Amino acid sequence: MNKPLILFVEDDNAVGNLIATTLETQNYQFHRAKNGSQAVMDALSCRPDVMLLDLGLPDIDGIDIIKKIRSWSNMPIIVVSARSDDRDKVAALDAGADDYLTKPFSVDELLARLRVALRRVRYDSQRTGEEAAIYKNGGLLINYAAGCAYLDGQELHLTPMEYKLLCLLAKHTGKVLTHNYIIGEVWGTHSENFSSELPSLRVFMATLRKKLEPDPGHPRYIQTHIGVGYRMLQNRQEDELPPQA
Ligand code: CA
Repeated sequence: MNKPLILFVEDDNAVGNLIATTLETQNYQFHRAKNGSQAVMDALSCRPDVMLLDLGLPDIDGIDIIKKIRSWSNMPIIVVSARSDDRDKVAALDAGADDYLTKPFSVDELLARLRVALRRVRYDSQRTGEEAAIYKNGGLLINYAAGCAYLDGQELHLTPMEYKLLCLLAKHTGKVLTHNYIIGEVWGTHSENFSSELPSLRVFMATLRKKLEPDPGHPRYIQTHIGVGYRMLQNRQEDELPPQA
Protein backbone atom coordinates (compact mmCIF):
# COMPACT_ATOMS: atom_id res chain seq x y z
CA MET A 1 0.00 0.00 0.00
CA ASN A 2 1.43 3.44 -0.87
CA LYS A 3 0.23 6.48 1.01
CA PRO A 4 -3.02 5.38 2.67
CA LEU A 5 -6.05 7.60 2.18
CA ILE A 6 -7.98 8.59 5.29
CA LEU A 7 -11.48 10.03 5.08
CA PHE A 8 -12.26 12.00 8.20
CA VAL A 9 -15.62 13.38 9.11
CA GLU A 10 -15.67 16.21 11.62
CA ASP A 11 -17.91 19.28 11.85
CA ASP A 12 -15.89 20.94 14.62
CA ASN A 13 -13.23 23.20 13.09
CA ALA A 14 -10.69 23.06 15.94
CA VAL A 15 -10.73 19.25 16.11
CA GLY A 16 -10.83 18.99 12.32
CA ASN A 17 -7.75 21.20 11.94
CA LEU A 18 -5.86 19.21 14.57
CA ILE A 19 -6.62 15.95 12.74
CA ALA A 20 -5.68 17.48 9.38
CA THR A 21 -2.34 18.77 10.69
CA THR A 22 -1.57 15.41 12.32
CA LEU A 23 -2.32 13.45 9.15
CA GLU A 24 -0.33 15.90 7.05
CA THR A 25 2.80 15.68 9.20
CA GLN A 26 2.55 11.88 9.20
CA ASN A 27 2.44 11.79 5.41
CA TYR A 28 -1.08 10.39 5.11
CA GLN A 29 -3.34 11.39 2.26
CA PHE A 30 -6.65 12.59 3.59
CA HIS A 31 -10.01 13.94 2.62
CA ARG A 32 -12.28 15.82 4.98
CA ALA A 33 -16.08 15.84 5.14
CA LYS A 34 -17.99 18.19 7.45
CA ASN A 35 -21.35 16.47 7.56
CA GLY A 36 -22.93 13.04 7.24
CA SER A 37 -24.32 13.17 3.72
CA GLN A 38 -20.98 14.46 2.40
CA ALA A 39 -19.25 11.63 4.30
CA VAL A 40 -21.37 8.93 2.67
CA MET A 41 -20.81 10.40 -0.81
CA ASP A 42 -17.06 10.78 -0.24
CA ALA A 43 -16.78 7.23 1.09
CA LEU A 44 -18.27 6.08 -2.24
CA SER A 45 -16.29 8.36 -4.55
CA CYS A 46 -12.83 8.53 -2.86
CA ARG A 47 -12.60 4.87 -1.80
CA PRO A 48 -10.63 5.65 1.38
CA ASP A 49 -8.60 3.00 3.23
CA VAL A 50 -9.85 4.07 6.66
CA MET A 51 -12.63 6.33 7.91
CA LEU A 52 -12.42 8.49 11.04
CA LEU A 53 -15.97 9.39 11.96
CA ASP A 54 -17.28 11.92 14.47
CA LEU A 55 -20.54 10.58 15.91
CA GLY A 56 -22.19 13.95 16.56
CA LEU A 57 -22.81 15.51 13.14
CA PRO A 58 -25.29 18.24 12.19
CA ASP A 59 -27.33 16.21 9.69
CA ILE A 60 -27.15 12.40 10.06
CA ASP A 61 -26.37 10.52 13.28
CA GLY A 62 -22.98 8.80 13.10
CA ILE A 63 -24.52 5.40 13.91
CA ASP A 64 -26.73 5.65 10.80
CA ILE A 65 -23.69 6.55 8.69
CA ILE A 66 -21.90 3.41 9.89
CA LYS A 67 -24.92 1.26 9.00
CA LYS A 68 -25.14 2.82 5.52
CA ILE A 69 -21.44 2.33 4.78
CA ARG A 70 -21.44 -1.22 6.12
CA SER A 71 -24.05 -2.18 3.51
CA TRP A 72 -21.33 -1.97 0.84
CA SER A 73 -17.91 -1.49 2.45
CA ASN A 74 -15.72 -3.35 4.90
CA MET A 75 -13.17 -0.56 5.39
CA PRO A 76 -12.14 0.09 9.00
CA ILE A 77 -14.24 2.79 10.68
CA ILE A 78 -12.83 4.49 13.77
CA VAL A 79 -15.43 6.42 15.67
CA VAL A 80 -14.36 9.73 17.21
CA SER A 81 -16.78 10.93 19.81
CA ALA A 82 -17.25 13.31 22.70
CA ARG A 83 -19.69 10.84 24.16
CA SER A 84 -17.80 9.02 26.88
CA ASP A 85 -20.75 6.79 27.74
CA ASP A 86 -19.93 3.13 27.07
CA ARG A 87 -23.38 2.61 25.56
CA ASP A 88 -22.55 4.93 22.67
CA LYS A 89 -19.29 3.12 21.96
CA VAL A 90 -21.10 -0.21 22.11
CA ALA A 91 -23.86 1.02 19.77
CA ALA A 92 -21.25 2.25 17.26
CA LEU A 93 -19.28 -1.02 17.44
CA ASP A 94 -22.44 -3.10 17.11
CA ALA A 95 -23.41 -1.03 14.06
CA GLY A 96 -20.10 -2.08 12.47
CA ALA A 97 -17.40 0.36 13.66
CA ASP A 98 -13.99 -1.20 14.32
CA ASP A 99 -12.66 1.04 17.05
CA TYR A 100 -13.34 4.25 18.97
CA LEU A 101 -11.53 7.32 20.27
CA THR A 102 -13.02 9.52 22.98
CA LYS A 103 -12.49 13.30 22.80
CA PRO A 104 -10.23 14.79 23.96
CA PHE A 105 -7.64 12.40 22.54
CA SER A 106 -3.91 12.76 22.06
CA VAL A 107 -2.19 12.79 18.68
CA ASP A 108 -0.28 9.62 19.67
CA GLU A 109 -3.55 7.85 20.47
CA LEU A 110 -5.02 8.83 17.11
CA LEU A 111 -1.95 7.61 15.23
CA ALA A 112 -1.86 4.33 17.16
CA ARG A 113 -5.49 3.59 16.25
CA LEU A 114 -4.82 4.41 12.61
CA ARG A 115 -1.86 2.01 12.53
CA VAL A 116 -4.02 -0.81 13.95
CA ALA A 117 -6.70 -0.12 11.32
CA LEU A 118 -4.20 0.01 8.44
CA ARG A 119 -2.57 -3.23 9.57
CA ARG A 120 -6.00 -4.85 9.25
CA VAL A 121 -6.41 -3.46 5.72
CA ARG A 122 -2.99 -4.84 4.69
CA TYR A 123 -3.68 -8.18 6.30
CA ASP A 124 -7.06 -8.53 4.54
CA SER A 125 -5.58 -7.63 1.14
CA GLN A 126 -2.66 -10.09 1.44
CA ARG A 127 -4.74 -13.06 2.51
CA THR A 128 -5.31 -15.63 -0.21
CA GLY A 129 -7.97 -18.34 -0.30
CA GLU A 130 -5.56 -21.04 0.86
CA GLU A 131 -4.36 -18.93 3.76
CA ALA A 132 -7.95 -18.34 4.83
CA ALA A 133 -8.04 -21.98 6.00
CA ILE A 134 -5.05 -21.26 8.22
CA TYR A 135 -4.98 -18.24 10.48
CA LYS A 136 -1.57 -16.83 11.41
CA ASN A 137 -0.96 -14.00 13.81
CA GLY A 138 2.50 -13.69 15.34
CA GLY A 139 3.16 -17.04 17.03
CA LEU A 140 -0.51 -17.99 16.97
CA LEU A 141 -1.76 -20.38 14.30
CA ILE A 142 -5.27 -21.77 13.87
CA ASN A 143 -5.94 -24.63 11.50
CA TYR A 144 -9.69 -24.26 10.95
CA ALA A 145 -10.12 -27.53 9.08
CA ALA A 146 -8.41 -29.55 11.81
CA GLY A 147 -9.98 -27.48 14.60
CA CYS A 148 -6.61 -26.96 16.29
CA ALA A 149 -4.71 -23.93 17.52
CA TYR A 150 -0.98 -23.61 18.13
CA LEU A 151 1.19 -21.11 19.93
CA ASP A 152 4.85 -20.97 18.92
CA GLY A 153 4.50 -24.46 17.41
CA GLN A 154 2.95 -26.00 20.54
CA GLU A 155 -0.65 -27.17 20.36
CA LEU A 156 -2.99 -25.23 22.65
CA HIS A 157 -5.30 -27.46 24.67
CA LEU A 158 -8.49 -25.45 24.50
CA THR A 159 -12.00 -26.36 25.59
CA PRO A 160 -14.62 -26.16 22.80
CA MET A 161 -15.84 -22.83 24.21
CA GLU A 162 -12.33 -21.33 24.38
CA TYR A 163 -11.68 -22.47 20.81
CA LYS A 164 -14.94 -20.92 19.62
CA LEU A 165 -14.07 -17.62 21.30
CA LEU A 166 -10.56 -17.67 19.85
CA CYS A 167 -11.90 -18.27 16.32
CA LEU A 168 -14.46 -15.50 16.65
CA LEU A 169 -11.84 -12.97 17.80
CA ALA A 170 -9.43 -14.17 15.08
CA LYS A 171 -12.07 -13.79 12.38
CA HIS A 172 -12.44 -10.11 13.36
CA THR A 173 -8.77 -9.35 14.05
CA GLY A 174 -8.24 -5.62 14.65
CA LYS A 175 -11.88 -4.94 15.48
CA VAL A 176 -13.26 -4.37 18.99
CA LEU A 177 -16.05 -6.92 19.53
CA THR A 178 -18.66 -5.97 22.12
CA HIS A 179 -19.69 -8.35 24.92
CA ASN A 180 -23.16 -8.31 23.43
CA TYR A 181 -21.91 -9.39 20.00
CA ILE A 182 -19.63 -12.13 21.33
CA ILE A 183 -22.36 -13.61 23.52
CA GLY A 184 -24.84 -13.50 20.63
CA GLU A 185 -22.38 -15.33 18.34
CA VAL A 186 -21.07 -17.89 20.82
CA TRP A 187 -24.11 -18.62 22.99
CA GLY A 188 -26.78 -17.58 20.50
CA THR A 189 -28.36 -15.53 23.28
CA HIS A 190 -30.59 -12.58 22.43
CA SER A 191 -29.37 -9.17 23.47
CA GLU A 192 -32.13 -8.63 26.07
CA ASN A 193 -30.74 -11.26 28.41
CA PHE A 194 -27.09 -11.17 27.49
CA SER A 195 -26.05 -9.74 30.89
CA SER A 196 -26.75 -13.13 32.48
CA GLU A 197 -23.99 -14.65 30.30
CA LEU A 198 -21.46 -11.88 30.93
CA PRO A 199 -19.87 -13.52 34.01
CA SER A 200 -19.31 -16.79 32.09
CA LEU A 201 -17.82 -14.88 29.15
CA ARG A 202 -15.32 -13.28 31.54
CA VAL A 203 -14.37 -16.68 32.98
CA PHE A 204 -13.85 -18.28 29.54
CA MET A 205 -11.80 -15.29 28.37
CA ALA A 206 -9.63 -15.50 31.48
CA THR A 207 -8.87 -19.20 30.96
CA LEU A 208 -8.27 -18.67 27.22
CA ARG A 209 -5.78 -15.89 27.92
CA LYS A 210 -3.97 -17.94 30.53
CA LYS A 211 -3.26 -20.50 27.79
CA LEU A 212 -2.62 -18.00 25.00
CA GLU A 213 -0.71 -15.06 26.46
CA PRO A 214 2.99 -15.56 27.24
CA ASP A 215 2.65 -12.68 29.72
CA PRO A 216 -1.00 -12.18 30.77
CA GLY A 217 -0.07 -8.86 32.43
CA HIS A 218 0.93 -7.50 28.99
CA PRO A 219 -1.45 -9.18 26.54
CA ARG A 220 -0.05 -9.62 23.07
CA TYR A 221 -3.12 -11.09 21.42
CA ILE A 222 -6.34 -10.28 23.28
CA GLN A 223 -6.94 -6.72 24.41
CA THR A 224 -9.62 -5.92 27.01
CA HIS A 225 -11.87 -2.88 26.58
CA ILE A 226 -13.41 -2.39 30.01
CA GLY A 227 -17.19 -2.08 29.88
CA VAL A 228 -17.14 -2.64 26.11
CA GLY A 229 -15.56 -5.91 24.93
CA TYR A 230 -12.40 -7.52 23.51
CA ARG A 231 -10.14 -7.24 20.47
CA MET A 232 -7.65 -9.57 18.79
CA LEU A 233 -4.53 -7.56 17.96
CA GLN A 234 -2.65 -8.17 14.72
CA ASN A 235 0.95 -9.19 15.48
CA ARG A 236 3.89 -9.26 13.10
CA GLN A 237 4.39 -12.72 11.58
CA GLU A 238 7.26 -14.70 13.09
CA ASP A 239 8.44 -15.62 9.58
CA GLU A 240 8.12 -12.05 8.30
CA LEU A 241 11.50 -10.62 7.34
CA PRO A 242 12.40 -7.12 8.46
CA PRO A 243 12.45 -4.64 5.56
CA GLN A 244 15.73 -4.72 3.63
CA ALA A 245 18.10 -1.82 4.12
CA1 CA B 1 -19.38 17.00 16.19
